[in-house]
Amino acid sequence: MKSYDIIFVGSGAAGVFAAYEFTKLQTKKSILIIDGGNDIYKRSCPITAGKVETCINCKPCNIMQGFGGAGTLSDGKYNITTEFGGDLHRVLGEKKALELMEYVDKAMVSFDKGESKLYETTSTNLKTLCLKNNLHLLDAKVRHFGTDRNQEILKKVYAYTKDSVSYMFNTIAREIDYENGKYLVHTDKGIFTCDNLVLASGRSGSKWMSKIFDRFSIETKSNKVDIGVRVELPGEIFKHLTDEVYEAKIVFKSDKYNDMVRTFCMNPYGNVVAENTGGLITVNGHAYADKNKLSPNTNFALLVSNTFTEPFRDSNEYGESIARLSNMLGGGVLMQRFGDLVKGRRSSERRMRKCFTKPTLQATPGDLSLVIPKRQLDTIIEMIYQLDKIAPGTANEDTLLYGVEVKFYNSQVSIDQNFQTEKKGLYAVGDGSGLTHSLSQASASGVQIARILNDL
Ligand SMILES: Cc1cc2nc3c(=O)[nH]c(=O)nc-3n(C[C@H](O)[C@H](O)[C@H](O)COP(=O)(O)OP(=O)(O)OC[C@H]3O[C@@H](n4cnc5c(N)ncnc54)[C@H](O)[C@@H]3O)c2cc1C
Repeated sequence: MKSYDIIFVGSGAAGVFAAYEFTKLQTKKSILIIDGGNDIYKRSCPITAGKVETCINCKPCNIMQGFGGAGTLSDGKYNITTEFGGDLHRVLGEKKALELMEYVDKAMVSFDKGESKLYETTSTNLKTLCLKNNLHLLDAKVRHFGTDRNQEILKKVYAYTKDSVSYMFNTIAREIDYENGKYLVHTDKGIFTCDNLVLASGRSGSKWMSKIFDRFSIETKSNKVDIGVRVELPGEIFKHLTDEVYEAKIVFKSDKYNDMVRTFCMNPYGNVVAENTGGLITVNGHAYADKNKLSPNTNFALLVSNTFTEPFRDSNEYGESIARLSNMLGGGVLMQRFGDLVKGRRSSERRMRKCFTKPTLQATPGDLSLVIPKRQLDTIIEMIYQLDKIAPGTANEDTLLYGVEVKFYNSQVSIDQNFQTEKKGLYAVGDGSGLTHSLSQASASGVQIARILNDL
């Protein structure tokens, strides 16, 4: 049984940036980082590589798992803000949280060969334009690396850190025990022990983490899920917004239900993609930095927030049920023209042939009103008409809606300002803690836990 000072389960954004910081600090600690996914060189999704059209359930899933976690094949958008992307500031305070995100940004840029622009919402008139139309643009600085460059940067981070920490890929943590002041991590490649154990297992490890918290009687809360669609339209319609801020995070409170709906993950001239979360096919989007790989379309999600009260506790199951329904009807992702949706008819192959907006994802034409509950769908339709006021053309009949996009939240576990759970020596960082939901914040939590544990 090999023993370490510290073990991390998960080499996602949080685990990787912890490794970065340990290396920077020239740590004397022995550190093992295990991950169920592939190393950075083997990470390629057969859909985005153009080998297959729909998800073939690779094990491990290269979109969600492996070095760099869910961020590696993502759009590589780093939002430096506490207005969205998590609540790191609740634990660390606003100033510290932002400082750490800036630190992560500097580190990423130092590994980047190209010139990645930092966009800022504060220096634009868009906020006023939004306010005049009852829309709220959230403040953020956004660094966009693009899927291709992001992966190249992460290869350099791996090379930089690999001699300071030990990595084990394709290694799944199954059980955790605690004996004589040591944590025992049971994996499919043997048992490893440590004094301090950091769970950094992200979204793909959320059920596993909940099991571990239950095992140690650590209380968790799960009451939120966001349901929505991915919108795709010609890039020109949003050009005045995306040229200025790259990603516009716009929030609207619907008239009918007073529900909050927001734009999320905007990809100018990007592609819509199918995403596999534990066998459920949902929709997402990304964009390349390489101008030769851009599409004519911009895509973004419209998400309606749902927070449930007692006695209902399993908000993620609610989201999964809706995704299952869409998978049942569409065999995967469903697609509908906005014009068809408001006229109460399904989109068909015949109607799609006449559609001026050419889809970047081969999805099944259908009827989203059979899948998404009325409350969320009405809110999405209201938001599309509202966005049409600041970006005319959004409510065109050929605007494409893909469903469903679901944003699951990990159960929130109670942690102190050192990310330590109620159990001494057991820590939770990144999205797995329920505290962060973004690359910047998850990475920042990784930097901070490395500083804390290095000083012990
Ligand atoms: C398609 C996609 C696009 C995205 N785009 C963006 C974006 O542009 N900007 C942004 O801010 N955010 C984006 N996100 C969200 C972002 O990727 C996450 O917020 C971030 O990766 C969280 O980092 P993390 O380290 O907490 O977890 P993750 O990155 O999810 O990493 C967790 C790691 O733990 C491993 N793991 C889990 N369980 C186990 C186990 N039992 N044993 C061993 N290993 C385990 C997994 O294999 C995984 O590699 C995107 C997410 C997706 C899925």
